[in-house]
Amino acid sequence: MDHSRHAALDRAEVAAALGGLAAVFSVEILPECDSTNSRLLADPPPEGGRIAVLAADRQTAGRGRRGRAWQSWPGAGLTFSVLWQFAPGAPVPAGLSLVVGLAVARALEELGVDGVQLKWPNDVLVNGHKIAGILIELVSGRGRPLAAVIGVGINLRLPPDAEIESAFGVTDLARCLDAPPSASRLLGLVLAQLHHFVGICAAAGFDGLRGAWQQRNAFADLPVRILGEVEPLAGTCVGVDVDGALLLQTPDGLRRVLSGDVSLRAG
Ligand code: ATP
Repeated sequence: MDHSRHAALDRAEVAAALGGLAAVFSVEILPECDSTNSRLLADPPPEGGRIAVLAADRQTAGRGRRGRAWQSWPGAGLTFSVLWQFAPGAPVPAGLSLVVGLAVARALEELGVDGVQLKWPNDVLVNGHKIAGILIELVSGRGRPLAAVIGVGINLRLPPDAEIESAFGVTDLARCLDAPPSASRLLGLVLAQLHHFVGICAAAGFDGLRGAWQQRNAFADLPVRILGEVEPLAGTCVGVDVDGALLLQTPDGLRRVLSGDVSLRAG
């Protein structure tokens, strides 16, 4: 495939995929952007209570957690960010990062992708290979109500020579589906799922979504290691708690691991 001739994102197509939810979002599309998260964090929120979405045909400096990079190529994927404003005085809902992963997983399943899995806290895999990355950053202060900027990158059609360093191997929708969707349709479908799941999480908490997350847990009952600032921790992944903390069965008993700056790896 000639990657210089990809279809650009199209607002009308995004709106068509959103259907009745189109009016809920204010979607902006840029031909190029360093990081859609950084840009949304810097911009003032939209008027009228709509949910701001910024998507870029080409993201030149996509960020992951802990200063890592999200790699993308023109036409190879979908990269966008959503500014999610919480009700005045409400805290950021526990489990938010897991719920964003769940929403992306549901959108991929709706398209017919088999073997969609979630890796705690928020990576989306297909049969063990990473297809999407998520970066959530919080905005508060400067007179703004508490909000989360939710950044999502989904691989659609990676270039054959793409070199991505990953502990899990990578995949894309072109490898999962005979007829992968356009980036615009995918954006509309993911936004609709985010609206559904983040809405439930903000209103009623993570508890009711816990079963749906655990059904897709890539490491359910498997040995894992947790790497991060604290000492490495090894155990069996037995699920997630009501607040989204990872539950790890270790020789010293059941441990809760909070998703801060930690990464999960196969044990
Ligand atoms: P992990 O738990 O995998 O250590 P993370 O949750 O910190 O990582 P993210 O911040 O979601 O990871 O994404 C950054 C990482 O994703 C990079 O370090 C790289 O390994 C991997 N990556 C970067 N670009 C892509 C891509 N297009 N497709 C799949 N994986 C990618």
